[in-house]
Amino acid sequence: MPSHDTPLPPGRHALALHGGAGTIARSSAEAEAPYHAALRAALAAGDAVLSSGGTALQAVVAAVVALEDCPLFNAGHGAVFTADETHELDAGVMDGRTLAAGALAGVTTLRNPILGALEVLRDGHCVLMGGAAAERWCAARGVASVEPGYFSTAQRRAQLHAARARDRDRAVLDHTGASTKMGTVGAVALDRHGHIAAATSTGGMTNKRPGRIGDTPLVGAGVYAHDAGCAVSTTGTGEHFIRGCVAHDVHARMVYAGLPLADAAHRAITESLAPLGGSGGLVAIDRQGRIAMPYNSDGMYRAWLREGESARSAVFDDAI
Ligand code: ASP
Repeated sequence: MPSHDTPLPPGRHALALHGGAGTIARSSAEAEAPYHAALRAALAAGDAVLSSGGTALQAVVAAVVALEDCPLFNAGHGAVFTADETHELDAGVMDGRTLAAGALAGVTTLRNPILGALEVLRDGHCVLMGGAAAERWCAARGVASVEPGYFSTAQRRAQLHAARARDRDRAVLDHTGASTKMGTVGAVALDRHGHIAAATSTGGMTNKRPGRIGDTPLVGAGVYAHDAGCAVSTTGTGEHFIRGCVAHDVHARMVYAGLPLADAAHRAITESLAPLGGSGGLVAIDRQGRIAMPYNSDGMYRAWLREGESARSAVFDDAI
């Protein structure tokens, strides 16, 4: 049993995050170092919140903001391109204590889409907003806007052109056959008060059809949190995660079938996602601080820490 699959003493916090799953070619430790460093920095951002008594909700948002700001990941700055060579960003966040949730789909000008999603959650009037009206509403509430060019990087543009050269009409995961490797980002956390939360943010899939919305902003598919079970953030082929309701599937297996977190998370991937032809993974946490991070792709960028234990990060099965 991995050490992160044991219960933590009450009152301790824990945090796990991902930077995407997919077909990831093994490369040198030197080439992977910046990705580990970026994952660890995001972990530190979330840990700072939790260590000072902040909530799981605040912590997952802080970690995801750090990942959105990093160009190595497919969220915020460095997001992948649509087939029209634009960016359309999705993000969702959920509080396991209250089941409050907020999400944005297809936004193009919010610097940190997860902060817009948090505003939707806080406002409480609706759960999922999309398009220009959502952006205006967020901006009026103080969420920072940018020119869409802010999200673009030369690597992502090259990645789009390579994907279109292979198959003009196919959308691909950020990592699949990509010149750079990182993907959708997400975080789950347990705070010292015993509550859990989840957040997920993405640019979607390279060469996606404009207007396409993936699993990331959908409660129960790409993000889910419920204190009675677990908090989950997913990454992978979004349509399959939507059809398999994968994030909620983990929770349901715990609560209805009585499975421990690790089994529930593993079965959600092997029994609900894989039979649909889906590929990807997830990070999940329960109220005892157990962490599960299963995937059926070649690898998944991930990092985790539990209070009193050292922080870890991994791409394949070899955590450092
Ligand atoms: N799940 C995301 C989507 O389908 C993509 C990813 O995880 O990289 O939009």
